[in-house]
Order: sequence, then C-alpha cells, then structure tokens
Amino acid sequence: MATIPSNIATIRSHIPKHVTMVCVSKFHSIEAIQTAYDCGERDFGESRVQELLLKQKTLPLDIRWHFIGHLQTNKVKAIVPFIHLIHSVDSWHLLEVINREAEKIHRRVNILLEVHVAKEETKSGFTPEELLSLNGKLASLNHIKVCGIMGMATNTDNEQEIRRCFRKINELSKILPNAIISMGMSNDFPIAINEGSTMVRIGSSIFGERQ
Ligand SMILES: *Cc1c(COP(=O)(O)O)cnc(C)c1O
Repeated sequence: MATIPSNIATIRSHIPKHVTMVCVSKFHSIEAIQTAYDCGERDFGESRVQELLLKQKTLPLDIRWHFIGHLQTNKVKAIVPFIHLIHSVDSWHLLEVINREAEKIHRRVNILLEVHVAKEETKSGFTPEELLSLNGKLASLNHIKVCGIMGMATNTDNEQEIRRCFRKINELSKILPNAIISMGMSNDFPIAINEGSTMVRIGSSIFGERQ
C-alpha cells in the first residue's frame, strides 16, 4: 500500500504552483493528518463540525482549516473563530448567520459560494441564476469576504460532462474579481486544473479510502 508521503509527492508533481491543494482529511485520524503536516501540508479540509473541532484542538495551530461540507446554521458559531475558508456556502440565510456570528467576534470570515452545476439533484449549492442574483446583495455583508466559488462536477466517467461542469463553474466565477475557483477532487482534479481551477480538494488519493 502506498504511504501518505509518497501519495502527496505524486499528486504534488501534477499540481502547478498557482493551485492550492487542500488535503481533505474527513474521517481520517489525527495521526494521518500529522503525517501530511510533516510533509509540509498546511491546508486541510473537513466536512463535519464536531470532527473538525476535535482535530483543530489537537493539531498544530498553523494549520489552515477549510470547511467543505454542508454547514448547519447552528454550528456556524463554533467554527467562525478559527476557520480559514468556508467553501460550501449554499444559501442566503447561511450567509446572514455567518455574517452575524463574525460581527460578534469582530472577525471577517472568508467564504466561497457553492454553485450547483452537476447533474445529481442531491448535490447542494446555488443555481447559476441564484448566484447571479446574489451578486448585488453581497456588499451588505460587512463581516464576510466572498473570495470565490466552489463546485463539483457530475460523478461520471464521461470526461465531456466533467469538463462541461468545470467550464461552467469557471465562467460563473467571473462575477467576482480575482475569484478563487475551488474545483477538482481525487478523480477529476487534472481536468479541473485544465479548466482553470485554482484550488483542488483531494482526499482519498492522499489518505486512502475513508473509514
Ligand atoms: C470528500 C470531499 C472531497 C474529497 O474527495 P476525494 O474523492 O476523496 O478526493 C472534495 N470535496 C468535497 C466537497 C468533499 O466532500
């Protein structure tokens, strides 16, 4: 079985300098994260708040924690003090709650707007139409910095369909200046980078299958 350091070295060799790699450590142990940290990785992504809080308490303080899962409004308060970037903001209500909690602690929280372009109904995110209509309203959220956009491609072997999704996400990112474009996971990150991704979120190719 390949080790975490050799997985990281292989993947890093395919990622250009201008693209940030977020190591998606959900369901993986503290020890596995520490191993990746010791290879020099500093960006880690989690999808459940309880799990993130436990890991954040235990692991080095200079880790940049990314939240990539569905975020419930009653959990926002717990992560706002330390989160580096919330990728998965998918409703106006969630934006308002993050803004309010950030204001209470005098912080400005970095977020990405999640957009739904994939075929699966089960995926979340703003529709392209919703995203466009949001744009004028964002300026009122003084404690949020909208840094870019996040999306996922349809889960399929059809490369044309994957490419269509990433192209659409890239096109939508142009509503924001200098947008971070968070797209690409273990199975599709080379296509995502080819289509303009600036941030990839990679889990199983680094850490192995999730427990
Ligand atoms: C789990 C997850 C990933 C990582 O997926 P892998 O296929 O394990 O690389 C990336 N993005 C999101 C939103 C995820 O939930």
